[in-house]
Amino acid sequence: MKRGRLIKGIGGFYYVDVDGETYECKARGIFRQMKITPLVGDYVEISITDEQKKLGVMEKIMERSTELIRPTVANVNQAIIVFAVTQPEPNIMLLDRFLVLAESEELEVVICFNKVDLLAEEDYLPIVDRYRAIGYKVLLTSVKRDVGIADLKEVLIGNTSVFAGPSGVGKSTLLNKVHPELQLKTGEISVKTARGKHTTRHAELIAIEKNSWVVDTPGFSALSLDFMEAEDLALYFPEFNEYREECKFSSCQHIDEPKCGIKNALQKNLIAEERHNSYQQFLQEIKSNRRF
Ligand code: GDP
Repeated sequence: MKRGRLIKGIGGFYYVDVDGETYECKARGIFRQMKITPLVGDYVEISITDEQKKLGVMEKIMERSTELIRPTVANVNQAIIVFAVTQPEPNIMLLDRFLVLAESEELEVVICFNKVDLLAEEDYLPIVDRYRAIGYKVLLTSVKRDVGIADLKEVLIGNTSVFAGPSGVGKSTLLNKVHPELQLKTGEISVKTARGKHTTRHAELIAIEKNSWVVDTPGFSALSLDFMEAEDLALYFPEFNEYREECKFSSCQHIDEPKCGIKNALQKNLIAEERHNSYQQFLQEIKSNRRF
């Protein structure tokens, strides 16, 4: 039995990486009987049926630490949230939405501001400083000028990462840069079949180096916060944490309640107003979608 990582699934075949070698595997019928669907990203055990042809059978799926949907990938532990400093202009509320989604999945978060070649430093540093003050790791990159690419490679080492962010910010370009053999078509999210129909691509894992993987499809493509409970939202704003215990009411939603630790911190500029605005917007959204 060999331990490996399921990196790709096509038409009932599963491709499992074992120390850099890829084995084409069938899954044991028991998985179907037990209604277990193997997911890209799964750590698995395979028995090898033909070493020369690299064929095997998937025998066991290890317990998953995380399970993302859209794309469906298991055991991702880090999100690289990419925005451009300009072209397109960063939409801060959208950045906060990606952060909340990543926090709710308990992923490590790295914010990557790309295209720094297009803007003077003083124009993007205030935003960078705001997120660094919260405690987020923020990378500044330019694919064009080869800035920050080594830093990006470094945060990928030893992790399974998903890139997320709006289109046009440079996600595919950055991925190609950290993995030149890859040659993802920039901007590509779906492929045309021979009959000309668009089909959603299934996610695959790409090895950056040993034990370092990236998902080849952008994460959190569904940006909805519907699944979240209103009372959990504040937990996903890490800088709110230390002030929440100062709230008079344990049910405080940090909007207009008296003696609210978070509003208090906001007044003292200990929490950024823009972040509280995002919080307020998301809270409204979650509450208005709630069905009883
Ligand atoms: P994605 O939709 O996030 O995958 O974005 P793409 O990777 O397709 O990039 C969108 C556009 O931005 C392309 O024309 C890239 O050449 C360009 N681009 C990517 N990175 C940079 C950068 O660092 N600087 C500049 N000036 N352009 C970039």
